[in-house]
Amino acid sequence: MATISDKLQLVGGRIRAAVSQFARPEGSVTLLAVSKTFPAATIREAVAAGQHRFGENYVQEALDKMAELADLREQIEWHMIGPIQSNKTRAVAEHFDWVHTVDRLKIAQRLNDQRPDHLPPLQVCVQVNTSGEESKSGIAPDEALALAREVADLPRLRLRGVMALPAPSANPAEQSRQLAAVRAVYEDLRAQGLPLDTLSMGMSSDLEAAVAQGSTMVRVGTALFGQR
Ligand SMILES: *Cc1c(COP(=O)(O)O)cnc(C)c1O
Repeated sequence: MATISDKLQLVGGRIRAAVSQFARPEGSVTLLAVSKTFPAATIREAVAAGQHRFGENYVQEALDKMAELADLREQIEWHMIGPIQSNKTRAVAEHFDWVHTVDRLKIAQRLNDQRPDHLPPLQVCVQVNTSGEESKSGIAPDEALALAREVADLPRLRLRGVMALPAPSANPAEQSRQLAAVRAVYEDLRAQGLPLDTLSMGMSSDLEAAVAQGSTMVRVGTALFGQR
């Protein structure tokens, strides 16, 4: 059976191949390992194999793993990639390094107010929803600029970019269209003067398409750790 180290090599190879195929600068795409539902021991193994950025979706589950991995705190960058309820913002502000899922000013303000002074600013992405599905998380593209400007003004947050979770599509053209729509939001915010460097999109099944559309951070779970 392939070890986590083997799968990190494989996914790293997929990223490098896509970077080369789509003429992106070398090293311009970062791998975020999505460890939700997998135990702390799995993360420990991945750290030993050289992976240092991990994405988690559920606050309590993440806190439990962080406690078990406290000895590795300096080696791990923790990214919150799941929806955030107001009553969980304090735990997120105190324990994570990044948050990809800011889609309301109220949540951004709470994270800002609750970020401890002894920690660096919380690195954040604004989550956009380009598919227009009412139920899904993420702000509409035409509201993204206003939210991004407000987030950029919060001193304990550092706005890094845009995140999206496009609905899966079996149709490659439709998938690329959605990824391109996210990229358009990101490019628009940059053109408006926001100093962004992170476009968080692409998962196990669509990372190549996301790299083709300018992703700088792919969030990969299944291809590294197996089915959940
Ligand atoms: C679970 C999850 C991923 C990883 O998806 P895989 O298909 O397992 O690679 C990426 N992003 C978010 C927001 C997720 O919730």
